[in-house]
Amino acid sequence: MIKDENAPKKIYTEAIGNSELEKNDPLVIMPIEKTEEDNLFLRNSLNKAEEESALLRELFNNASNELNSLKKPALLVADVVSVLKDKSVIKLPNGNKFYCYVAKEVQNIRSGDSVLVDQKTLNIVGKVDQSSNFEVEKFVIIEKPKESWKDIGGLQNEIREVKEVIELPLKKPELFEKVGIQPPKGVLLFGPPGTGKTLLAKAVAHSTNATFIEVVGSELVQKFIGEGAKLVKDIFTLARNKAPAIVFIDEIDALAATRMDTGTSGEREVNRTFMQLLAELDGFEHLDNVKVIGATNRLDILDPAMIRPGRLDRLIEVGLPDLDGRFDILKVHTSKMNLQKVKLKELVAQMDGFSGAEIRAVCTEAGYFAIRDNRDHVVHEDFVGAIDKVGFMDEDEGMGKMVG
Ligand code: ATP
Repeated sequence: MIKDENAPKKIYTEAIGNSELEKNDPLVIMPIEKTEEDNLFLRNSLNKAEEESALLRELFNNASNELNSLKKPALLVADVVSVLKDKSVIKLPNGNKFYCYVAKEVQNIRSGDSVLVDQKTLNIVGKVDQSSNFEVEKFVIIEKPKESWKDIGGLQNEIREVKEVIELPLKKPELFEKVGIQPPKGVLLFGPPGTGKTLLAKAVAHSTNATFIEVVGSELVQKFIGEGAKLVKDIFTLARNKAPAIVFIDEIDALAATRMDTGTSGEREVNRTFMQLLAELDGFEHLDNVKVIGATNRLDILDPAMIRPGRLDRLIEVGLPDLDGRFDILKVHTSKMNLQKVKLKELVAQMDGFSGAEIRAVCTEAGYFAIRDNRDHVVHEDFVGAIDKVGFMDEDEGMGKMVG
């Protein structure tokens, strides 16, 4: 083929469109196709490299952000004592108070809030989210109890009262609104140890699907010296956040014992914690989704302020079970045991004065007797031996408490 020098030069894309060339000149077409394949491959590689580079850039940014925040000095956590326009009085954990500025972006600060404070200038630069209450969650037991009404033996009257005062207002608040009465804010369960006070509180939390927040009065004043009042406040904030909730205060007498005014610092601390508890009880509404159950073995030493109307004004006595009560409790605790020829009626007659916790201990001991004897079932004599053992422990000073 003679080359025409004057013919206009074709670029390769035009050549592709030129069917004559495609058919006629495979020597030209093949390299073009190869080049286009290469081109596609390079373009894909380029895209991948760009994606990778974006990913690496993001990783780098994250790492340098983290590095920057690690280099920042830690902030102090302080409590707001009072707020005055753009300034506040804060109290540091060591007790010192300072008058300091509040950064513009920190809004709605109120006294009692926990805030973040710059170490050098002590200015408030942030607010601790109250809903995360990280402090208080370490000190109280929070759970959704599994114990239900059927796990309680006897105590029919007590169960009915607890249902009326706690369960009904939580489940059907509209009923109280319609009738126009205010249900009590809580109840006080009193009676000897191991009679099922905690069990009642857990069962009502279970039946209302409420969060159960358990705190022990004596721990509030002994373990967390200087923190008691704040903890009480935080517990109620936590309860409101987790509502419906039941705050169960065991050994409430440790907080609310009649005050003797000895003026010691320990005494003042208990007073402060107690006053905070009263303030919290007064502060929430009757139909709020938070109920308080107090428990005590010592009603006689309880401060009357605790049981004044509007506070824990419904008192429910949870006494030692009678014969029928003991029978019901024994049935509950033996329901899952492998029994053979055990006469429960006879046994309960021998357990005069036993509490629910002691009856449970008798069942456990009877089970141990069977295990020691290499049996997989429990017989009447195991229970008789167990009653003797638990009864003996009870006589021994303080030992009865072990079964609680
Ligand atoms: P304390 O005053 O010492 O705190 P308490 O009255 O709160 O005691 P609980 O902790 O409720 O007593 O009872 C301890 C255990 O005893 C319960 O976990 C339960 O197994 C058993 N118990 C007590 N009373 C009953 C009952 N009426 N029915 C079934 N079990 C019971």
